[in-house]
Amino acid sequence: MAGLESADVPITFVGRVCARRGCNRPHWKDGLCNRCWRFAQLFQKDPRMLAYKPLDGYKGGTDAVELPWEEWEQAAREQGVDMVEFLIERDEER
Ligand SMILES: [Zn+2]
Repeated sequence: MAGLESADVPITFVGRVCARRGCNRPHWKDGLCNRCWRFAQLFQKDPRMLAYKPLDGYKGGTDAVELPWEEWEQAAREQGVDMVEFLIERDEER
């Protein structure tokens, strides 16, 4: 039968997927899939912040996505700076 190869094949992702809520594409860089990462670049956003902005947007004032504060705190500690400095520094990397 022709065209069988081009049919949608369910892909089973092993390992990490995009960190962005509502996005299940395979992980590519900075916690995001290729598409979300490019999106972040396009809008000059920190890919890691975009990861926590849901793909379908927030569902209202009470909807929130948990930010990886502990992870950031840990990273800041490793660099010997406090959280604020760490986040500002990341901002200035651009
Ligand atoms: Zn994604």
